[in-house]
Amino acid sequence: MSYDVVIVGSGLGGLVAGAKLAKEGRKVLIVEQHTSIGGYATCFTQNNFTIDVGFHSMDGLYLEDPKMKVFEDLDVYFNLELVQLPKEFYRYVNNRIDISIPNTIEEAITILTEHFPEEKNGILTFFRTIENIFSSEWKTKTAGDMLDSMIKSNDLKLALVGFIQHYGDNPYTLSALSFSAALARNYKGGNHYIKGGSVKLTDYLANYIKEHGGTIILGNEVIEIIVNPEKETVEGVIYRPTNDTSAETTKITANNIVVNAPLPVAAELLSAESKNAVKLQEMMKHLHIGHSVLNIYFGFDTTLDNLDHNSYLTVINHKSMFSMNDIFVNNNRPYSQKNYLFVYYGQTDSGMAPYGKSTGVISAVDYLHNWENLSEEEYAEKKKEVQQIFVDKLDLLIPGVWDHIEYVSVATPKTMERYTRNPKGSVIGFTRNPLQVRMYPLTSPIKNLYFASAWSVPGGGFTSIIDASWRVAVSISKKRR
Ligand SMILES: Cc1cc2nc3c(=O)[nH]c(=O)nc-3n(C[C@H](O)[C@H](O)[C@H](O)COP(=O)(O)OP(=O)(O)OC[C@H]3O[C@@H](n4cnc5c(N)ncnc54)[C@H](O)[C@@H]3O)c2cc1C
Repeated sequence: MSYDVVIVGSGLGGLVAGAKLAKEGRKVLIVEQHTSIGGYATCFTQNNFTIDVGFHSMDGLYLEDPKMKVFEDLDVYFNLELVQLPKEFYRYVNNRIDISIPNTIEEAITILTEHFPEEKNGILTFFRTIENIFSSEWKTKTAGDMLDSMIKSNDLKLALVGFIQHYGDNPYTLSALSFSAALARNYKGGNHYIKGGSVKLTDYLANYIKEHGGTIILGNEVIEIIVNPEKETVEGVIYRPTNDTSAETTKITANNIVVNAPLPVAAELLSAESKNAVKLQEMMKHLHIGHSVLNIYFGFDTTLDNLDHNSYLTVINHKSMFSMNDIFVNNNRPYSQKNYLFVYYGQTDSGMAPYGKSTGVISAVDYLHNWENLSEEEYAEKKKEVQQIFVDKLDLLIPGVWDHIEYVSVATPKTMERYTRNPKGSVIGFTRNPLQVRMYPLTSPIKNLYFASAWSVPGGGFTSIIDASWRVAVSISKKRR
């Protein structure tokens, strides 16, 4: 069998690229190792609750937001309901302060200045800098350096990096550029949720691909990306039923291959005879892989406004947190002391729970090594213990919530890795430190091989992936057949 383009993986990047290529008349095949599409951008249903695996909100949707052109091009606007989230970007809570930070720059400046009047100039400088980060001197610095140079109050700095876990686990290694660009999009366009969950977007894209003549094969893993070592160009893929080493393999020839699977994994699939493949594999070994998360998913038998909880996203710092230096330390502390965030989907018309009920998720930075080398029983026992710790924490934030939990389950970094094959269960791809942000591979060294995922430039998150994958598809579709 022969295709114009084979896409390895049906995560968000694979589906966006596939949809655009299919629209442009290319013969597209997507091969996905899991039995369902979407990678991290998917939902599951339990006890009539729809739970989003890894999606809290989508930034942007303002005029210059690069997603806008993609959503228009692929008719997303007419087919999905994008729910604008309330004015509050997030609520930041520690044992000293409790601030609701609005999601427009001017309102955020007003509120933060009311709380920290002596920091007025620093607050203004911070917001002006993140708005114009691409023309500033911060390209080679970290978010921590940037905040330290502008602001004195440790509590204000902690509040401003409250959202950090979406981009990194340490403000002193997180690129100021990555941090600011993502943050600015949140403040410029506000936040949105996809009614019914991220699965609505990925299902829509998958159907779009099929309606435009594309094919998606589930439950099959690509085991080799064939590279012609003389021409250093891709020629196809070999796949077989996932984890079935004795099963028959299928060979597909293709003019172009788009890698949506995590790059360190995909690099190992390239034919070993290719010099450029070996170079790429070497490069992967030197790049630092980002953090994972622990997620605790909840279905509540009530809406939480009945318990006086109204925020969509709340960031809760532990009382041992005094400065930004403590963030990375905290990420490595026992679970009882960990910072976490709580997303309450019932705050908006998310369509995730039966009438009168609601869903939410606790998410905390975590690492695969915390869950390795355990027997099945030990792993299950640890999950139970950790779940209880976080339920107790949530009950402190929202007194009485304990009595309203109808469904609860835990996903660890191991779960993240198992379902998506992201190494170490990374939720951000490579670490976005200033060096890596500038050096990690923009284009592949092998002809007709393309990258479209959180592991390629500019990194993870819906906006970055949707924009970058669409561009990959555009550049392929511009080529002569
Ligand atoms: C808990 C959590 C919360 C998040 N919150 C947000 C948020 O609020 N806002 C936001 O914008 N982003 C958020 N993100 C990030 C966002 O979900 C991800 O960046 C994005 O979904 C990753 O998409 P991707 O295209 O890189 O692929 P992935 O989701 O990593 O998918 C890759 C696909 O490749 C497949 N694959 C791997 N190996 C093979 C193989 N050999 N053969 C075939 N298939 C293979 C995998 O099974 C998978 O389906 C969150 C992520 C997580 C985990």
